[in-house]
Amino acid sequence: MKKGRVFSGARPTGRQHIGNYLGAIQNYVKLQEEYDCIYCVVDIHALTTLEDTSMLKENTRQMMLDWLAAGLDPEKSILFIQSHVPEVTELHTLLSMVTPLGWLLRVTTFKEKAKMQPHNVNYGLVGYPVLMTADIVLYKADTVPVGEDQLPHLEIAREIVRRFNNLFGPTFPEPQAKLTSFPMVVGLDGERKMSKSYDNHIELAASPEETTQRIMTAFTDPARKFRSDPGHPEVCNIYRLHHFYTSLKLNEIAEKCKAAAIGCVECKRLLAEGINRALAPFRERRAIIAQKPGYVDEVLADGARRAHEIARVTIKEVKGKMGLP
Ligand code: SF4
Repeated sequence: MKKGRVFSGARPTGRQHIGNYLGAIQNYVKLQEEYDCIYCVVDIHALTTLEDTSMLKENTRQMMLDWLAAGLDPEKSILFIQSHVPEVTELHTLLSMVTPLGWLLRVTTFKEKAKMQPHNVNYGLVGYPVLMTADIVLYKADTVPVGEDQLPHLEIAREIVRRFNNLFGPTFPEPQAKLTSFPMVVGLDGERKMSKSYDNHIELAASPEETTQRIMTAFTDPARKFRSDPGHPEVCNIYRLHHFYTSLKLNEIAEKCKAAAIGCVECKRLLAEGINRALAPFRERRAIIAQKPGYVDEVLADGARRAHEIARVTIKEVKGKMGLP
């Protein structure tokens, strides 16, 4: 007996990095055992910030290859592309009629995005929380895995649901947050969150050589100028990454670093070995899946078909409750 239905979506950002894996994908994989899971590549959301869409298709395929190789299982979960179930845009429009504009204009991420792209403050940007709500409730999902920083978005979704249910009668479950303590994975620059846009990432599907090369050029403790200087592991990004991939005991690395008994080159080499060892099975699976002609397309088509079956029932119910002729 499953505990409920989970929905989560992610933008098609192409090949995933270890920050994506540690922060979301590994949790998606675990949730499959306890919940009915629906995982969606939100390509329409991507249009709110993307002006060049030429890579959307390829990025979606690459991301899906990573998801599948990481353990998302189309037998257990529905995996699909947001725009392949067009009812979501219909529900977005209907929900927008019960969403006061003031709620949306107050959303912090809208203000931030409007500042970041002043030349392109499009309607989709302000309507983003309504589309996100439609994503969740179209499938009557009751559980949404989120980090603390995403709670305000989910709260808007819950407010929209409450308002709709008050106006038209109980229709949607109020989605509950499944709070997960996502580790904040800092990038190889040692300063910012790991992200492709900062080019401070390690792709899950990178070759062992590329992984090692990127780690060897990463920033470490800025105060440690010479091999003989004692290090400060607590401020070192390589040490943080050892938390996830070390082959040694963490306190052993910390003690050796503080006593200058290990150099940064050696420490990075150990980390690269640890990451390459941990990712070897993933990389093997990914290569096998990538060689199966048409497999990713088949998974996505089957996911869209199963998502569509749920979506059309919901839309029929919503239109009926709203009194549409
Ligand atoms: S030895 Fe390791 S933990 Fe210490 S500063 Fe160098 S890279 Fe960082």
